[in-house]
Amino acid sequence: MRATSRVFVAGGDTLAGAALLDLLPDEGFVNLVGVGGDEPELTDALAVNSFFASERPEFVFLVGGPSGGIGLNRARPADLMLANLQITTNVLDAAHRHGATKLLYLASSCAYPREAPQPIRVESLGTGPLEPTSAAYATAKLAGATLCDAYRRQYGCRFVTGFPANPFGPHDDFGADSGHVIPALIRRAHEATERGDSVLSVWGTGAPRREFLFSRDLASACLFAQRWYDGDAPLNLGGGTVLSIAEVARVVADVVGFRGRVMFDATKPDGAPLKALDSSVLVGMGWKPTTAFRAAVEETYHGFLHQLATEGVTDERLAV
Ligand code: GDP
Repeated sequence: MRATSRVFVAGGDTLAGAALLDLLPDEGFVNLVGVGGDEPELTDALAVNSFFASERPEFVFLVGGPSGGIGLNRARPADLMLANLQITTNVLDAAHRHGATKLLYLASSCAYPREAPQPIRVESLGTGPLEPTSAAYATAKLAGATLCDAYRRQYGCRFVTGFPANPFGPHDDFGADSGHVIPALIRRAHEATERGDSVLSVWGTGAPRREFLFSRDLASACLFAQRWYDGDAPLNLGGGTVLSIAEVARVVADVVGFRGRVMFDATKPDGAPLKALDSSVLVGMGWKPTTAFRAAVEETYHGFLHQLATEGVTDERLAV
């Protein structure tokens, strides 16, 4: 990649996409195409194809497609699966037809089998059943990874798939029911503080552990993979912090300034006891995350306050 390479972030309005659009200019890339209003509607095959025909992006980050926490996956599995399938087929087909030099496809760790040994290695892909609540979305992501692999085999396309750890950051979905744990807790802790509540309720027992990756670190991992990784196997994008939900809740409460008690609502589901990635390949190549967890939560909280002040925080941000 050169500073003048034409780079397209497909899904610039997503958590990872917004972080990439912040990072790439800082890293000296001066030729970003399809930014903001210039991004084609990714679910529209004709629009995507004509965008690639005219703009000829050389390096593509495919990070688009709606996603959400367990609430959204339960409520709208068909919408999530359809949009992600459409976006993936449209962008991969156009990147191949119009000769993009390289493409990084961002999948999701929920595409790994529910019972995969921890920390999860890429060899576990396809070895067992998926978590049922997110199976529709995860199947679309698995199809995307398989399609990248198929293009590599059949056409020699340099399409690479990355599986990120649980990402969070300022451009998150802060819906109380649709978001993932960190943005959802930030919103609930903020509202509880405003109301002067004495208790903040957290789903589950607080015991499950997750590997979290701040969105700027995720963007940096994506750029690193785009530059340096061209293997046939997908690449896990992690190496971040593994924390229990109880530890996460304490940091969030502290950052938001919630002074009451944190209570665990064991009637709500815990989900998997541990979800972490084996990112030894990426880390072995010399990449590592650089943002401390607390500082990342602080930035995410500022992102929430900014969203609240500018566009308001809706209960879901599913753009289909
Ligand atoms: P996943 O379980 O890794 O797919 O992702 P989530 O981010 O949705 O949930 C992670 C963990 O956080 C689970 O154990 C949840 O029960 C717990 N959790 C606690 N409070 C919340 C909340 O308000 N929203 C969500 N989504 N999860 C929560």
